Amino acid sequence: MEIKTIGVIGAGQMGSGIAQVAAMSGLDVIMNDINSEVADRGLRTITKILSRSVEKGKIDEEEKVTILRRITTGANLEGMESADFIVEAATEKESIKFQLYRDLDQVCAPKVILATNTSSIPIGRIASETQRPKKVIGMHFMNPVPVMKLVEVIRGVATSEETFKTTWDLAITFGKTPAEANDYPGFIANRILMPMINEAVYCLYHGVGTRENIDTVMRLGMNHPMGPLTLADLIGLDTCLAVLETLYNGFCDSKYRPCPLLRKYVEAGWLGRKTGRGFYEYT
Ligand code: NAD
Repeated sequence: MEIKTIGVIGAGQMGSGIAQVAAMSGLDVIMNDINSEVADRGLRTITKILSRSVEKGKIDEEEKVTILRRITTGANLEGMESADFIVEAATEKESIKFQLYRDLDQVCAPKVILATNTSSIPIGRIASETQRPKKVIGMHFMNPVPVMKLVEVIRGVATSEETFKTTWDLAITFGKTPAEANDYPGFIANRILMPMINEAVYCLYHGVGTRENIDTVMRLGMNHPMGPLTLADLIGLDTCLAVLETLYNGFCDSKYRPCPLLRKYVEAGWLGRKTGRGFYEYT
């Protein structure tokens, strides 16, 4: 199946990154959010990143303009009927995703694959909202999308081989390295990463160390490129909490219980970099 146009749902940090790599691979992109102002904000982020690439000499001005011309923005599912493949990167909340999949199933042609960038919501559960479970799959990009090489490709219980192969090949077209995972809570990446981040938050909560010392120990002691609290701020504390809740509920195992301090920050609207305050302050 030839893929010319990618529909991206959600123009936040992940959606805008996915739209950027798709457009840089020569594909047309329709990037939508809950309204066109939010979608346009995503496009401005892409423009800023590409302008920086021009300044650094990685691409020239003409290439930047060509990439940007491939991206159109819109509200809700406007224009999605023309997409050949959908990547959904909306907020990590079951009710939002389930409604989106019911709607996408109505709007998109039956042959179109619906790929979700969910960090943890079961693929099979999302697929069950549609009449095309064979064509629903996980396509889990890492943050920041233009930089990180990995895409976790997650098979739901009903995902067809054809859907898997098309998604795998698309990840390669995007210049990424795919890795296969099965549909269990957190898949591979977040099953391993989130308990570590949660433990770092517990260390802060129990006063084992300051935020700086916790991050320094993991950065210099374990050679991680950034500390777990800095990484949590980058991912978004709301997303971290949502993933931990999925792990906790999915396994019914107390080892995944989210730290009360993480919950408190999310309740206060301290979501990390995207809101200017998380474990650290951002100006
Ligand atoms: P974000 O908060 O930056 O962006 C989410 C966007 O979705 C927002 O702009 C919001 O307005 C939009 N949205 C909400 N409901 C919508 C709807 N019905 N239709 C269209 N748009 C809608 O979040 P993010 O970090 O980009 O995360 C998006 C998805 O990617 C989540 O599923 C998350 O778990 C996953 N993910 C996040 C990371 C990360 O590091 N942040 C990494 C991998 C995967």
